[in-house]
Amino acid sequence: MKTCPSCTRNLPRTQFSARKQLSGNVTLRTYCKLCDRLSATQERRGWKPALRLWKSVKGRCPSSDITPDDLRIPAVCPVLGIPLRQEFSGKRSDATPSVDRIEPAKGYVKGNVVVVSWRANRLKGDATLAELRQLATFYAPMEEK
Ligand SMILES: [Zn+2]
Repeated sequence: MKTCPSCTRNLPRTQFSARKQLSGNVTLRTYCKLCDRLSATQERRGWKPALRLWKSVKGRCPSSDITPDDLRIPAVCPVLGIPLRQEFSGKRSDATPSVDRIEPAKGYVKGNVVVVSWRANRLKGDATLAELRQLATFYAPMEEK
């Protein structure tokens, strides 16, 4: 198993492209096949989806120091594991990428933003980590029946 740093999924090694070195050693790509393919597509499109997210952040927070590169859209939502849409046509849905502030009070600054699905962002709202834990602790036993 190997973890893809882009989508944070822990995947079997077959999900990573292999490269044969001149030495004969085989090395695996850093990112999983899905993320690799996706970043190729985004590159071709000139990062338009990330650019669009970035513009909306700049609209909300002009002093933000994040760049479109900080807002690369992963293949799947790192929280919920659902595939993320790569274009913004049509209505906003659960799978629409959105920018979440890890700690809301810190704002849209480098290191405090992560691209997640709109559903994950909505569920989290402005909850703190402690509150999210309380929610899970409260509801988990009720589901076990
Ligand atoms: Zn990946």
